[in-house]
Amino acid sequence: MTDHCCEAMSLRANAPCDRHSDPFDCPDALIRFSAEFQEYGLIVHDGGTSSITIDFCPWCGRRLPDSQRDRWFDELERRGIDPGEDEVPAEFRDARWLGARPGPAPAPGLTD
Ligand SMILES: [Zn+2]
Ligand SMILES: [Zn+2]
Repeated sequence: MTDHCCEAMSLRANAPCDRHSDPFDCPDALIRFSAEFQEYGLIVHDGGTSSITIDFCPWCGRRLPDSQRDRWFDELERRGIDPGEDEVPAEFRDARWLGARPGPAPAPGLTD
């Protein structure tokens, strides 16, 4: 379970819905969290799977974790895996490849 910056984000990120297993199909879904990349995106409900990456939480204003997308590709390359061709190992489909990482650090200088 990933720690998000605040309760609102925890509720909204990949909000489970009993009618739609895919957040892109759910009109109520707002935030897509890609655990493997540590990226947060606003879901664009245009019928596809687009989302707009955000750097700050819309609710608490904290800076969100840095994207690990580049590291993800580097790490796979280091193992000789081409994500376009080869099967991506299970731990690279979620946050497990990042190891024991702490949750997002609170932004310095922000007081509640
Ligand atoms: Zn937040
Ligand atoms: Zn739904």
